[in-house]
Amino acid sequence: MVKMYYNQDINEAVLEGKKIAVIGYGSQGHAHALNLKESGFDVCVGIRAGGSAERAKNDGLEVKSVKEAAKEADVIMILLPDEKQKEVYDNEIVEGLQAGNALVFAHGFNIHYGQIVPPADVDVFLIAPKGPGHLVRRTYQAGAGVPALIGIYQNATGNAKDLALAWAKGVGAARAGVLETTFKEETETDLFGEQAVLCGGAVELVKAGFETLVEAGYQPEIAYFECFHELKLIVDLMYEGGIANMNYSISDTAEWGEYVSGPRVVTSASKAAMKEVLNDIQSGKFAKEWIAENDNDRPQYSVAKKAVADHQIEEVGEKLRAMMPFVGSKANKETVNAK
Ligand code: NDP
Ligand code: MG
Ligand code: MG
Repeated sequence: MVKMYYNQDINEAVLEGKKIAVIGYGSQGHAHALNLKESGFDVCVGIRAGGSAERAKNDGLEVKSVKEAAKEADVIMILLPDEKQKEVYDNEIVEGLQAGNALVFAHGFNIHYGQIVPPADVDVFLIAPKGPGHLVRRTYQAGAGVPALIGIYQNATGNAKDLALAWAKGVGAARAGVLETTFKEETETDLFGEQAVLCGGAVELVKAGFETLVEAGYQPEIAYFECFHELKLIVDLMYEGGIANMNYSISDTAEWGEYVSGPRVVTSASKAAMKEVLNDIQSGKFAKEWIAENDNDRPQYSVAKKAVADHQIEEVGEKLRAMMPFVGSKANKETVNAK
């Protein structure tokens, strides 16, 4: 069994008295900055002028330019979108790094694929919460936490791991459990999970199920409840107690259908496709294409985003959710809309 770290295993003294800069105030940025501050650490936010800067000020945080924050801080965490990090690092962060500082990430993309090459005399580590930023914040406020991975890329001071663990404790992750990984493992498994299962896989599965029912003449609202709404309820049961817990709650008919029909839908061909997806992540092909897509102002991304927005399942879902005010988080929507 892998070693897990919890609050009682971690001495946060190594991070106390250090000046911390959280660069970016989006999904992860707001959660790390606010949680660390409330845990008693000396935090400022480094951000350009605009919506995020205003939100950080309104939330009571000290706000500086990225350059100033990076220069003054001892520990600098980059929580900008992955595709923006290289440019901001090259133009505003690297000149502020001093020997013995720490450079921190929540995802290994830019280090692992060689986009950011930090000086050898700084610590470089990641602390990657395994959940969306808004839950990192919300669970912390509720006295709980989202589990996280830590990984060390450079240990210039000898303190990199202790700093990573202290950070994990400060954001509440060590209430749920922290485990150690490498930049390579975190980057490749994170990209694979979101592409094949969590985001890519789940969205395509839901859309294909919805389309199959609607094309067969069933009412879209019924198709939405069957193939989309209920997914959350089923996944919650799996999350809480494993597949057996979910199977315990569903009918034996549903369970039998799971055994005979599930493998007809997600087949050995799907698994072969997953292996191709993983190969493209490991070889750097996915990263190269995503970087090129950004350099070209995202032509394919924009088309795909519009196709999802225009899908009937989004239209039907919006109407149905409006009738179920207990579904959804207002806080998330406000933040997403403000972005
Ligand atoms: P967001 O897209 O939510 O962050 C956007 C923030 O970056 C905003 O504050 C935005 O400011 C700022 N920003 C964007 N461009 C610039 C720029 N050129 N100069 C200065 N500030 C800029 O990012 P995430 O929180 O999703 O991701 C941050 C990191 O965390 C990534 O490495 C990601 O992989 C990782 N991660 C994210 C997870 C998540 O839950 N989203 C989960 C685990 C890891 P403005 O308002 O001015 O645009
Ligand atoms: Mg990710
Ligand atoms: Mg049913």
